Amino acid sequence: MERLDALVVGAGPAGTTFAYRLAEAGRRVLVVEEHPRVGRPVQCAGLVSQRVLDLAGSSSMVVRPVRGATVVGPGHGAFEFKAEEPRAFVIDRAALDVHLAERAARAGAELRTGTRFDGIVRREPDAVRVRLTGADGATDEVAASVVVGADGVASSVARAFRLRRPVEILPAFEVEYPQAPGDPDTVEVYLGRAFAPGLFGWWIPDGHGGARVGVAADADGTPARVYFERLLDQLERRTGHRLANPTAILASGIPIGTLPRYVGERVLLVGDAAAQVKPLSGGGIFTGMRAAELAATVVLRALGGGEPSERALADYPRAFEAELGEEFRRALYLRRVFCRLSDRELDALVDALREGNLKGTVVAFGDIDFPTHVARQLLRASPGLVRLLPKALGAWMSPGTSYPAPELEPSVLRK
Ligand SMILES: Cc1cc2nc3c(=O)[nH]c(=O)nc-3n(C[C@H](O)[C@H](O)[C@H](O)COP(=O)(O)OP(=O)(O)OC[C@H]3O[C@@H](n4cnc5c(N)ncnc54)[C@H](O)[C@@H]3O)c2cc1C
Repeated sequence: MERLDALVVGAGPAGTTFAYRLAEAGRRVLVVEEHPRVGRPVQCAGLVSQRVLDLAGSSSMVVRPVRGATVVGPGHGAFEFKAEEPRAFVIDRAALDVHLAERAARAGAELRTGTRFDGIVRREPDAVRVRLTGADGATDEVAASVVVGADGVASSVARAFRLRRPVEILPAFEVEYPQAPGDPDTVEVYLGRAFAPGLFGWWIPDGHGGARVGVAADADGTPARVYFERLLDQLERRTGHRLANPTAILASGIPIGTLPRYVGERVLLVGDAAAQVKPLSGGGIFTGMRAAELAATVVLRALGGGEPSERALADYPRAFEAELGEEFRRALYLRRVFCRLSDRELDALVDALREGNLKGTVVAFGDIDFPTHVARQLLRASPGLVRLLPKALGAWMSPGTSYPAPELEPSVLRK
């Protein structure tokens, strides 16, 4: 019977980042991935910051740097900005996952693809024994001092260990088009309640003349594909061109909000499984990888001290909170405000950005991993924006205000 320091379920960026850190410290780690190939199927638009490349220790997966963005309102008014230097990177997401898995394997982690975590067999005094199922249906058991659920938004580890799962999951739908006319240096963000209530549509150049076009929406039961078709109509109205001949289609879910509890006795969740996703954009690669590093530090300490008890592992959510908690709270608050804006207000928002001469502010403070920094600066710089938004927001954003974010006024919540 195999005896592991850690069993990592899921070979996405969070799982393999965690595995790498443990393996390089000399710990015995097994990563299981239910799909036959790491990184496939791709379920991501692949837009990341320099921080992700730094965490990965490589830029080999970059297909194109981007320097700017265009935010398009429902009525087609647009706010554009472009920086001198790259502000984000379009990556080959499968290549990122493969790179991270290979790095973990080189450090000594074992990787088993086509192998699914299938539940807890029993708890032992110094380990948890779990069942794994191979692609051929054969089952196996391993015992691990700690089990890491890096198994994405529908985490079966969370279910098996009775940890909480994300309450809000935005359905997302994305299509890759080999030919998509547009500025290859710029990503486009489409706002509109008809096609993207609750988030936005995106157009991301793929570096080869095509684009990844997608939408995530607060869908109230409507399939995300329906919202996607509406986004295509919107794009056609704007450009006069109908995107056609897709080469890849993906549908998945984006967890939003933070979990009240994502560690337990000999178990922790990381990445999408723990809803460690930026609430204003749905991006989760940076936050999941960084959380995995924080979790690995805590697990190494707990293993060194003997027991990865719930109490010892609780240092991990504390570390995440200290580093990203403030940003997440602000972003969740802004998202609640954003979700209540009508199309008319979204258009007014885009107009206020354009008319307020705010490009310099966006270029100076824009950061896809910490979007509330630029939001704060914009609200300070533009009375037009503050007028559009609830009073509580204006007060909260003014200099010297600290946490917690205020509750929304009842009139705003009723909208
Ligand atoms: C349409 C879309 C576009 C996105 N675009 C971006 C973007 O541009 N930038 C960004 O930063 N983020 C983006 N995201 C979010 C990003 O993809 C996720 O946050 C990220 O993949 C989370 O990484 P993870 O390692 O936590 O989980 P995942 O990447 O989901 O990996 C989990 C792995 O666990 C495996 N698994 C699941 N259950 C089991 C089991 N029982 N046994 C074994 N293996 C299992 C799965 O097969 C999977 O490989 C996007 C998401 C969507 C849906």
